[in-house]
Amino acid sequence: MNSKPNTPLSNSSKVIHNNQEKNKQGYPFNQGPVFASTFHLAGDPDNTPYQYGRYSNPGWNALEHAIGELEGGTTVIFPSGMAAITAVFAALLKTGDTLILPADGYYSTADFIDLFFTKFGVHAKRVPTLEIPALDLANIKLIFAESPSNPMLDVIDIRALSHKTKAAGTLLVIDNTTSTILGQQPLALGADISLASDTKAFSGHSDLLLGHVASKNDHLIEKIRNWRKLSGSIPGPMETWLAHRSLATLDVRLERMVNNARRVAEMLREHPTVKQIRYPGLDTDPSYSISQQQMLSPGFIISFELENKTIAETFLNQLALIYQATSFGGLHSTAERRARWGGDNIAEGVIRMSIGCEHAEDLLNDISTALNKL
Ligand SMILES: *Cc1c(COP(=O)(O)O)cnc(C)c1O
Repeated sequence: MNSKPNTPLSNSSKVIHNNQEKNKQGYPFNQGPVFASTFHLAGDPDNTPYQYGRYSNPGWNALEHAIGELEGGTTVIFPSGMAAITAVFAALLKTGDTLILPADGYYSTADFIDLFFTKFGVHAKRVPTLEIPALDLANIKLIFAESPSNPMLDVIDIRALSHKTKAAGTLLVIDNTTSTILGQQPLALGADISLASDTKAFSGHSDLLLGHVASKNDHLIEKIRNWRKLSGSIPGPMETWLAHRSLATLDVRLERMVNNARRVAEMLREHPTVKQIRYPGLDTDPSYSISQQQMLSPGFIISFELENKTIAETFLNQLALIYQATSFGGLHSTAERRARWGGDNIAEGVIRMSIGCEHAEDLLNDISTALNKL
């Protein structure tokens, strides 16, 4: 029986083959969820891996092992992307620290610091993603960056930034949600921490929330794991297992999504009604050359601008196949007018579209029909 592959596996195979246990005769390929708050525990608690449901769970270990193999670092999972992000802040920041947040990134991250951490004397400076690499890092404890940024898809050179943060003693945290670990490898590029909302493409079926934090630095990971244990910010066994099950198809889903996204982006670029389009995989995009060097795939998110709010809303209402919804990365293509939330500093007519796994021709027809009716 094969318990070890003959050659090192590619990540495309590791999403399928990541069983931590020996592949034992009569055992399932991917063990189902273990629903337990309490475990048999007599005598010295250190003699068993499972003591209490807030400390550990077999499904967490299995998924953390699987993600860790892809990230190249030790992994801790959380019940949402925000739970992963806030765990990093809570575990690693202290009074008087200054951190950098992207001015054009996922806005809940900045809201969290404003509402809950400013009162403890943690200062956040918001800097546009493209300006982060040129910052003076004196007295900066931590840089939190998204690349590509959500929603405008700016890309920065993570490796170059990591050389700078290392020299300055600043921690570099990359929110890798828009790429997923198959699209970009933040730890290999030198980041101290790679994290993501696995609610998005990682799990990809629009049916659960999850997040994770990964690092090669076990000292940081220990603090983050302690935060989970003591704050109680723990993922449920069912969500954990569903995410692990979904991971197996991540590579095939992404392949389809990215191929579809390329075709949609090319069509939008040529369309006279579209004012501006951002997709890192277009050779005309400002992110193109750096994304070619650093990313394994340009992704499946496209942001484009229509004339104004009314035209953008009309376009969305004329789509028949593509759902109007927030979030991204699912099997179903979705789109939304991002400014409707009010949090992002972007033009009223900007639409963020997440390209899913439908047939490309159906997507192209739906989008061009809606555009041509405007
Ligand atoms: C969605 C998202 C988050 C938050 O993740 P949740 O799973 O919704 O908590 C964080 N960062 C980015 C870039 C996201 O897109």
